[in-house]
Amino acid sequence: MNSEFDYVVVGGGTAGAIVARRLAELRAGTVCLVEAGPSDEGDQRVLVLRDCDLLLGSDLDYCYKVAPQERSNSDIVHNRARVLGGCSSHNAAACFRPPSFDLRRWVELGAQGWGPEDCEPFVKRVFERLNMEYPEPANRCDLAFLEAAQQAGFPLRLFGRDEVTGDCVGWFLLHKRGRLRTSSSTAYLHPLGQLPPDLRVCTGVRALRIVFDESRGAKGVETTDGMFGVRRELIVSCGAIDSPRLLLLSGVGPADQLRAVGVTPMADLPGVGQHLLDHPETVVNWESAQPVPSDSSQFWQCGLFSRTRAHHAVPDLEAVFTTSPYDELTKRRGFPTVEPGAGFAFAPHVTRSKVEGRVALRSGNADDAPWIDPRYYSDDGEDEATLIAGIRVARHLAEMPALKPWVRRELSPGASLRSDFELGEYVRSTTNTSHHLSGTCAMGAVCDRQSVVDDELRVHGVGNLRIVDASVFPSDVGVNPVVTVMMIAEKAAWHIGRPVSRSNRAQVAATD
Ligand SMILES: Cc1cc2nc3c(=O)[nH]c(=O)nc-3n(C[C@H](O)[C@H](O)[C@H](O)COP(=O)(O)OP(=O)(O)OC[C@H]3O[C@@H](n4cnc5c(N)ncnc54)[C@H](O)[C@@H]3O)c2cc1C
Repeated sequence: MNSEFDYVVVGGGTAGAIVARRLAELRAGTVCLVEAGPSDEGDQRVLVLRDCDLLLGSDLDYCYKVAPQERSNSDIVHNRARVLGGCSSHNAAACFRPPSFDLRRWVELGAQGWGPEDCEPFVKRVFERLNMEYPEPANRCDLAFLEAAQQAGFPLRLFGRDEVTGDCVGWFLLHKRGRLRTSSSTAYLHPLGQLPPDLRVCTGVRALRIVFDESRGAKGVETTDGMFGVRRELIVSCGAIDSPRLLLLSGVGPADQLRAVGVTPMADLPGVGQHLLDHPETVVNWESAQPVPSDSSQFWQCGLFSRTRAHHAVPDLEAVFTTSPYDELTKRRGFPTVEPGAGFAFAPHVTRSKVEGRVALRSGNADDAPWIDPRYYSDDGEDEATLIAGIRVARHLAEMPALKPWVRRELSPGASLRSDFELGEYVRSTTNTSHHLSGTCAMGAVCDRQSVVDDELRVHGVGNLRIVDASVFPSDVGVNPVVTVMMIAEKAAWHIGRPVSRSNRAQVAATD
């Protein structure tokens, strides 16, 4: 197809589906949403939430491998959804409000207009549009965990509705309706046959390169299905790996790195692909002393937050409790495991790691997988210490009267590993991602050389181009991020669609 629209949104994922729909509702002009993956409509593999783990590694997953890691195992795969709705069609659906603590930090880092009060109306829009429900409080093993945490002093909270500010435990609020997932696609696009007349959704079309005019304004995107031209703006919403990748393939990024892989730089933006943020994770697996019930929305229904060190103002640790063994990486390292129904696990992750990784190109060929180097544990040892503390929280809970009758034995790390040295080694050799990538096109002031977009998400140094997805996080959020990404999309649509929205051509001139 070779056609032109007022707006083209590249990436019909969590953020992209929302931006496209809202622009059409605002009557901002003609909008085309271009998604590399297929439609989710009617696809039970995607829509039945309970089976979400089966999507990992499937044909609906990009399965990005990490570069060899110096300080952790290198077996980690970044699962990223390749389907309408993106990772909101793929994830475990736990919903949290963006913490005020983190939004205040965003403002400090130059994201003016993104403080808690500024963002609240857009969080509200997400909560109004996306159906969310708590799980049935029925699984006896989940209930034993929740009871044990309260016996250990963690107060019960309504996650998702209450903001997480201190130690607490609770059921996750899930984006679902009954047994079916709700997502940015189901909530903002379905039914696809009844979209607003100004909105077109093209699935199975992959963007290869952004095309610029002589004054460095985006004029369209080259795809596997021809050129999609834009009269006003191109909005990139391909997620924390593929948004920087598309910019880099288009010559927008660190000029020296681009030349090194044979891409001619168009705009030297050193921050593109830098500042990759994640929540590194460890796990404690137990064999159960009694059959673990299988009634669950998606086997990851509850969790807790903890401040492992007194000087932290907010929890530095989140942990998810799962009524199934979580053994993919422990098994590979030779730790014993059990069948589903015979075990359960507790997976703690670091909420605000100081580590910054990188996404880069291996070559200028759009078909080559990107280079993803999260640099896990390259900090001063704090992440490792936090996760060791998480293992000790797990062991403490296992001693509580409510959970003790469920524990036959600890499978991994196993009761014999006790010292910081032994547990640190275990953490690094079996670590995994909690799939919360962000930050690779960070928002910040134009004068901040590492920032990529301004506070209206316009890319510095070029025209007609915005990024709207998890890649714009200036710093991490200390909770599961999907609602924060959706809030960003709602706010972005408002910035773009309101009549006073300015083009960034003036800014382009100023930075020349
Ligand atoms: C397994 C898993 C479990 C998770 N669990 C939770 C959870 O329980 N709670 C929570 O809050 N968060 C969770 N997350 C994280 C959360 O879902 C993501 O942070 C969020 O959905 C990311 O949204 P996004 O818009 O940035 O990117 P995505 O939703 O990934 O959207 C990017 C879209 O762009 C498309 N795309 C990419 N490249 C191209 C291209 N070149 N051309 C066209 N289209 C392209 C992709 O196919 C995709 O649809 C989880 C993530 C994963 C992977």
